[in-house]
Amino acid sequence: MSYKAEYIWIDGTEPTAKLRSKTKILADGTEPGTWGFDGSSTNQAVGHSSDRVLKPAATYRDPIRGGNDILVLCEVFNIDDTPHESNTRALLRPVAEQFAAQESLFGIEQEYTFFQGARPLGFPDAGYPAPQGGYYCGVGADEIHGRDVVEKHLDNCLAAGLSISGINAEVMPGQWEFQVGPLSPLEVADQLWIARWLLYRTAEDFNISATLDPKPAKGDWNGAGAHTNFSTKAMREGYDAIIEACEALGRDDKPVEHIKHYGAGIESRLTGAHETAPWSEYSYGVSNRGASVRIPWQVEVDKKGYIEDRRPNANVDPYVVTRLIVDTCCSALDK
Ligand code: ADP
Ligand code: MN
Ligand code: MN
Ligand code: MN
Ligand code: MN
Repeated sequence: MSYKAEYIWIDGTEPTAKLRSKTKILADGTEPGTWGFDGSSTNQAVGHSSDRVLKPAATYRDPIRGGNDILVLCEVFNIDDTPHESNTRALLRPVAEQFAAQESLFGIEQEYTFFQGARPLGFPDAGYPAPQGGYYCGVGADEIHGRDVVEKHLDNCLAAGLSISGINAEVMPGQWEFQVGPLSPLEVADQLWIARWLLYRTAEDFNISATLDPKPAKGDWNGAGAHTNFSTKAMREGYDAIIEACEALGRDDKPVEHIKHYGAGIESRLTGAHETAPWSEYSYGVSNRGASVRIPWQVEVDKKGYIEDRRPNANVDPYVVTRLIVDTCCSALDK
């Protein structure tokens, strides 16, 4: 007898990488091993030397196929066994390892937008729906579009074994959010990529697509972000570490370095309107949804907890945002 393994990897599409996957049939009792693919079709190689290697990094139950079938998240390698330049997971591994003693945890809020054809789900064929105001956490057919897909996606994530902590309808029609975590840097990033794959795959069966476009509708509509909540053991135990993490993110050239890698098109979203801080100015504050980094009110009351970096775009690479935050904050907290 055999089972199916869906090998999933992140490609080299610029400026935002896409997910790819293909199926391998494995004999019962055998583990998923390394595999290969045509890198010239994924922007990861040129045609005359196109073999690339898939190395399994994490496996999950496959809620789509069920049974003993699995999802296999892979890292992409070159045939000389060096990580491919698109392999950002390989860059996170040593940084996570270096600061492991600080016990970093992340919870990422993934916002996204459903599309049917060329329009966000719930937008009329011509013109626009009623302005924003009633959609966020709304209920009812006049406000909610795509809930059947959202519920199915949530069930699929839970069946896969992912640590989803919640879901909600967002500010624009057809826009939704799920949260992954709190988990270690590698776990949260792996699980977020798998949750994204399950989102596309689940919506496919409804003939709906999902996009992580940070500004899917032009005009007076909210963009889509990936608020990144972060704590270390010291931050979960005291307020000095909370403040030091906020300060570290604003020090020297850190704001510029972070923004540059927080997702393509970030200037179109971080305008200073729609609950964002302007991308060019760093700020932090208690309860402030207009700041770059927010300290939740409860954290200020408890004098411990976590911080929320509100800048990352929905299309951010979670291997990159977690690496940058761990590197910046844990280096500072080490001193
Ligand atoms: P918001 O009020 O910003 O919409 P959400 O409830 O959507 O907040 O998301 C909060 C996120 O913070 C969740 O993903 C949760 O797992 C995460 N979180 C909670 N506690 C911690 C912590 N100590 N460290 C890191 N992340 C945390
Ligand atoms: Mn072929
Ligand atoms: Mn949220
Ligand atoms: Mn949100
Ligand atoms: Mn948030």
